[in-house]
Order: sequence, then C-alpha cells, then structure tokens
Amino acid sequence: MILRLRPGLAEERVQELRERLEAEGLRTARSPETARPVIAVLDRVPAALAAELEREPAVEEVVESPGVWRRVHRAFREGLSVVPVGGVNVGGGEVVVIAGPCSVEGAGAIREAAWRVREAGAQLLRGGAFKPRTSPYSFQGFGVEGLRQLKEAAEETGLPVVTEILDAAHLPAFLDQEVDCLQIGARNMQNFTLLKAVATAGRPVLLKRGLAATVDEWLSAAEYLAAYGCPQIILCERGIRTFETATRNTLDLTVLPLLREWTHLPVIVDPSHAAGIARLIPPLARAAVAAGADGVAVEVHPHPSEARSDGPQALLPGELTALVAEARVQAAVTGRSFHPPPRAGAARQPARRL
Ligand code: PEP
Ligand code: MN
Repeated sequence: MILRLRPGLAEERVQELRERLEAEGLRTARSPETARPVIAVLDRVPAALAAELEREPAVEEVVESPGVWRRVHRAFREGLSVVPVGGVNVGGGEVVVIAGPCSVEGAGAIREAAWRVREAGAQLLRGGAFKPRTSPYSFQGFGVEGLRQLKEAAEETGLPVVTEILDAAHLPAFLDQEVDCLQIGARNMQNFTLLKAVATAGRPVLLKRGLAATVDEWLSAAEYLAAYGCPQIILCERGIRTFETATRNTLDLTVLPLLREWTHLPVIVDPSHAAGIARLIPPLARAAVAAGADGVAVEVHPHPSEARSDGPQALLPGELTALVAEARVQAAVTGRSFHPPPRAGAARQPARRL
C-alpha cells in the first residue's frame, strides 16, 4: 500500500503516521520528495487498518500496488526518475542511445568500437567483459582485463560505460575501474544475492528483463535493488521467450505504456538481443522510441564477421549513425530532447557515489 499524503503536510504529522504504522508491526519507506510526502507500507496492511487509513485526513490518496513492489511504484514519486550515468541523463525527457560491441575483445578493438560509437552520436558505451554464454565452450570475456580495456576506451572517448556484472565477488573490480553503470543481465534478473550486492555499490544499475519474466517479477527485482540501497535503476526490455523461433526473442513493446503507469523508473529497449538479426533492429529501435522508451541499447561492431559473440545482430557503425539520426527525430516527435555525446578527451564525469 502506498499512502500519498496531503501536499505540505507538517513533518511531525508524517512521522506520527509512520510511527503509528510501525507500532502495528508494519515496515514503511518514505519517498525522497518532501513537497508531497509519500509513505510506502512494505508489509500487507490488515483490512481494518486499511479502512482506517482511507478515512485518515492526512492521507489524500491510498494506492494499492499490483505487486510487492512499492518503492519503484509510480505513486511513490511525484515525477519520473532521472538516472544520471556518468553525466548523461537517462529518463526525464531525454532520449539516449547506448551502443557498443557485445563483448570487449581487446584494447584496440574496444577503442575502435568506442570511437565509432561516439562518431555515430551515441552517448553511452556498452561492452561485456564478463559474458554469460549458453555454451561453456564459447568466449567468456576477458574479465578484469576487459574492464581495464573498456575503461581506457571510455576515458579516451569521454563516453560513460555500461557493462554487465555476473558475480558479486567481481564488484570491487568494477568499482576500481569506475564503471559508470552496472548491468544485470537477463539471466541474472532474479539472482537476488547479486541484486542485493550490486544495490550497495552506489552506482546506477541497468536491470534487464529476464528471458521469461513477467513485468511483475521484473519490478519485484527492481524493488530488491531499491530496498537494498539503489534508487538509480534503469529498466531494459530485451525481448522475451515465446513460441516464435524466427527471431531470437520477441520484443515486448507493450511494456512501455504499461511501465509508464506502473513505475517512475526510466525504461530503455534493447532490440539487438530481441531480434538477434541486425537488419531487423533499426525499425524496432524507431518503434521503441516512438512508443516512449527513454532510449535504446544496441550492439555495434566495426567488423561483425569477426565478432567473438553476437556477430549476426551487430550493426555496422554506419548503420548506427542512421539509427541515432532516427532516434533524434523520434525524440523530437515525442517532445523529448536528444543530446550529443559528452565532449571527447574531457575527463569522464566521476560516477556518483550515492
Ligand atoms: C548483453 O547485453 O550483453 C546481454 C548478454 O544481454 P541479455 O542479458 O539481455 O541477454
Ligand atoms: Mn550480446
């Protein structure tokens, strides 16, 4: 249950109400906003108390969450959340493009890819150093060395980075390399131990939707991050498994208007892992931004036939340039802005410790 209190309600009254709820054995969370206080009741409210709260003069509106998620519920905040990633805002009326190779494939390769991404006009660099591969015989990523290579490329180009973490034990290395945004991949969306550990890192988190996760399960995973200390969460729809086998996954754009109602978190779309086929990606990216996505994440490789993972879905740099131009148009059509990437050569904005 989420209690939206009367705007401007005195702080003592807010505290009194929280104490009353906690005296009933209910845990509560307070929205960070002060102008319009909101209290989320984290435990199930007994019916008699719920009826009382409906009549409570301090309470303007009682909102029931469709799930266990409350901190990430739309009603918990006044507006929509904006997540700054190394100085690039995700959400809040801006459209971003995250681009880069599937894997970090060496210092020279990621450097070249990062420059192509920057020249194409994308604002954030992606690339996996730790790869969750279906086959144990496939390239697993260069690990910590890959993180170093990614950081070098990021510093040179000025692009903040988003990269996947597979194991909580690797967190110190990610922090050492000043990774701007930690990605939780589809396969780990419900790895609750990892979610709890990553939530304490003081970094923004990109939470991909699980391969077969409902929106409710996805938001429950986001609630884990919020509950364990990370309010800076970006959701990423990347296709779900359906009966269809012609494409790698099925892109579920239905979630975009639905999540706008259910959560205040920014939502981006990864059409690359959804389609799995490069030529299908540009129209899906257009559709995603047109339907309200706060951005897209796409895989790009200067030499797709040499890619060590996901080559068939890698866009060429020239195709990325066209995709970025279209995202800019779609942003304008939907009343949002599109900014150029951060200045090259400038020191990256330090990742914010929260
Ligand atoms: C990735 O982004 O590199 C990735 C492995 O994606 P997903 O977790 O969506 O499969
Ligand atoms: Mn990939």
